[in-house]
Amino acid sequence: MSSELRQDLVSGDWIIVSTNRKDRPRQFAKIFKKRKVSAKSGCPFEDPQKNGNPEPIFVYPKGAGKNDWKIQILGNKYPALSRPVNTCAPVFKNGPYTTTEALGYQDLAITRDHHKNFSDLPLIEATQVLKGFQERYNMILKDSCISYISIFQNWGPTAGASVYHPHYQSIAIPVVPLHIKISINGSDRFYKEHKKCVYCVMIEHEIKNKRRIIYENEEAVVFTPFFSESPFEVRVLPKKHFSYFEDTPEKALKGTAAALQYALKKVTKNLNDPDYNFFIHTAPIKNKEKHTHYHWHIEIRPKFFNIAGFELGTNLEINEVDPDKAAKILRK
Ligand SMILES: [Zn+2]
Ligand SMILES: [Zn+2]
Ligand SMILES: [Zn+2]
Repeated sequence: MSSELRQDLVSGDWIIVSTNRKDRPRQFAKIFKKRKVSAKSGCPFEDPQKNGNPEPIFVYPKGAGKNDWKIQILGNKYPALSRPVNTCAPVFKNGPYTTTEALGYQDLAITRDHHKNFSDLPLIEATQVLKGFQERYNMILKDSCISYISIFQNWGPTAGASVYHPHYQSIAIPVVPLHIKISINGSDRFYKEHKKCVYCVMIEHEIKNKRRIIYENEEAVVFTPFFSESPFEVRVLPKKHFSYFEDTPEKALKGTAAALQYALKKVTKNLNDPDYNFFIHTAPIKNKEKHTHYHWHIEIRPKFFNIAGFELGTNLEINEVDPDKAAKILRK
């Protein structure tokens, strides 16, 4: 195949899949050097509260104490946003500029074991990480000023993690980011035109086509998107049509956690343990009835390099790894 411009079915944006350098996929898979594992002694998350972190909002197992917790959900020690006090911040004009106070919630989930990243956790705990954020999400959305909640993991220093100990984050903000709006609008447009969810259509196509499938179970499916922006991008989707992460039933959440674990295991093994980010895309909190066309999902992005000039100048990504090849390497 020669290089190809491909359109993102949801956002409508374009990407370039460049396949001129045949050896690129394998080179990418070898980019990473051995990970530096920080020592357990001196780790601020071994005893989070002793190290100045706030008291947990809740823990798993429920009711566990200082010595037997497995997962803590707690506020971030260094939040970029201040906590709302049940009131929305007013919008100001500063010359031609618009500002408002950065109110929001910034939380963490810390898992107990220093050496167990998401894919190493027992499935019950991996599910509880997602469930913990679901529970926290449902607490935060009672704050009527919050519009969007982003849930993600930064794994490794180049992916933005400042602490080695595995942890997961959520940031709740009073605005819907433009990037999310574009996807929501794209999903809405597709639904109006085809009377079908764009993600359900992709899932059906990918399962039938098989080339980019990495894994599936009863509840979830993992594949490399046809229009992957970056090398070895991976998507994890619940098979059933759920618009809202926070309303997903436990069975589907567990199947999705298992799929995410499988995907991350393959990324770690076949790409030589890269730094990565994974994040959840879900429908915004407000006007719920308007977003039933959306289908929440998880995206995994191995962190290969910083964004270059052309990408910065155009937002158009050049991906040097054909998603078909990426899936083939990741399946091993
Ligand atoms: Zn630790
Ligand atoms: Zn759907
Ligand atoms: Zn997405």
